[in-house]
Amino acid sequence: MTVKDTFVLGDYNAVCFECGRKKKASFLVRHWKGYYVCPEHNESRQPQDFVAAPRPATTPSWTQLPVDVFVVTGFPPAVPYDPNAP
Ligand SMILES: [Zn+2]
Repeated sequence: MTVKDTFVLGDYNAVCFECGRKKKASFLVRHWKGYYVCPEHNESRQPQDFVAAPRPATTPSWTQLPVDVFVVTGFPPAVPYDPNAP
């Protein structure tokens, strides 16, 4: 059944994106996808859309500073560094 258009100051006619029925624009609500629908055709967004996978650990459980180990060998003979040497 078609309802006659009625004049409402400041309002206009719009079509529901889901059912295609003509309604007043102030009656329609914005769907989460961006289009406008009747309030009874509006649906909330699926909560699973917001589920994020847990982030893997990017740091190791423990660390320590490296310790330099100098190995003195017999050949060539180890000579202390002298900056004034010719
Ligand atoms: Zn509708």
